[in-house]
Amino acid sequence: NQIKNIAILGSTGSIGTQTLDVIRGNSNLFRAFLLTAHSNADLLISQAIAFEPEYAIICDTTKYLQVKEALAHLPVKVMAGHQAIIDTVTHTDIDVVLTAMVGFAGLEPTIAAIKAGKEIALANKETLVVAGDIVTALAKQHGVKILPVDSEHSAIFQCLAGEEANPIEKLIITASGGPFRGRNLDFLANVTREDALKHPNWVMGAKITIDSASLMNKGLEVIEAKWLFGVDADQIEVIVHPQSIVHSLVQFKDGSIKAQMGLPDMKLPIQYALTYPNRIQNNFKRFSFTDYPNLSFEKPDMDTFRNLKLAYDALREGGNMPCIINAANEIVVAGFLNKSIGFLAMSNIIEECMQRINFIAHPTLADYLNTDKETRIFAQNLIQQLPLKAIQ
Ligand code: NDP
Ligand code: MG
Repeated sequence: NQIKNIAILGSTGSIGTQTLDVIRGNSNLFRAFLLTAHSNADLLISQAIAFEPEYAIICDTTKYLQVKEALAHLPVKVMAGHQAIIDTVTHTDIDVVLTAMVGFAGLEPTIAAIKAGKEIALANKETLVVAGDIVTALAKQHGVKILPVDSEHSAIFQCLAGEEANPIEKLIITASGGPFRGRNLDFLANVTREDALKHPNWVMGAKITIDSASLMNKGLEVIEAKWLFGVDADQIEVIVHPQSIVHSLVQFKDGSIKAQMGLPDMKLPIQYALTYPNRIQNNFKRFSFTDYPNLSFEKPDMDTFRNLKLAYDALREGGNMPCIINAANEIVVAGFLNKSIGFLAMSNIIEECMQRINFIAHPTLADYLNTDKETRIFAQNLIQQLPLKAIQ
């Protein structure tokens, strides 16, 4: 009955705080060993006081003294900066690294953790989108498991338990469709940041909430699924399921389809990644069919929500194209959130980056880092050059 030491990268976010809820309810099984935040020093401090981790790391170095002083009375080591995370995730006592930071920033810490042989509970899908080939090859080389936290991938992973000998014919990934499901381009041209931040079923961080509204989140998940489950783009189908009860499905070669279901609550996939292959009791609210008499399914509208189609294109083209799409997306989402560009401009800019950034068929890690930098600068310039109206 050994207690697992968990490193939570991005403990102050939506997934991070829910991971701490799971740990709090199971202190006989888990200990929060390392907590990290980008700049939310106040929350990191209160988490460190509540959980007394071995380490608390704040990326924003200007907040170091604030965190250090607030935790001076506790046996918590305080560090600052992105490099401190990369160095500390390799600590001998860490058993699992749960990656819940947002965006490309997750790549290098995840690689460092894999090289140190740490099991990865992966929420940070951008890591696999950017460099899925390198990350999965390293995991194989170091005998490291990558356990999905993303609800769709957790669903598929649960459906695959006990099916190791059976090849997958097709994965069916469900999408809620987001707040703009059923809307047309005219409508999307005028939606605001506030409209897009109102997700019908899930409460999540701002970036993934915008990705859900634009269907880029589903595109990133298609790419993530390719690397996690070793299937081709043609074997991955996306289906819109507005109730978010069926979390995803697997079809086997005999045509049989298995689905995993439950209420939309990330605590379950987080818990499963931490307890795998076992399941443990909890008091999470249970699903009842009487509350959901109608579960519906429809085709996604990829002409209106172009990001999903662009993500499939990037996956088929391979090389550094998914890295390009991810970097461009991070920039346009930030641009949409700070109201520099409209909703439809996001896909236009991403597409232009895909056409204009140098394609590399077999990128190294250094190539990925360069592509990411280059694409961010290019996308940022597109945002700045074009007047608001022209790019909408
Ligand atoms: P949030 O925005 O809520 O939290 C992000 C966390 O990462 C915060 O702790 C934040 O710190 C930290 N962070 C942000 N930027 C950086 C950076 N550049 N370097 C280091 N740390 C950083 O995001 P979510 O929890 O919603 O999402 C986290 C990841 O999980 C994403 O990759 C997302 O796609 C994925 N995911 C999320 C789901 C959800 O339900 N939320 C579902 C499935 C996947 P600070 O608070 O200080 O800013
Ligand atoms: Mg998901």
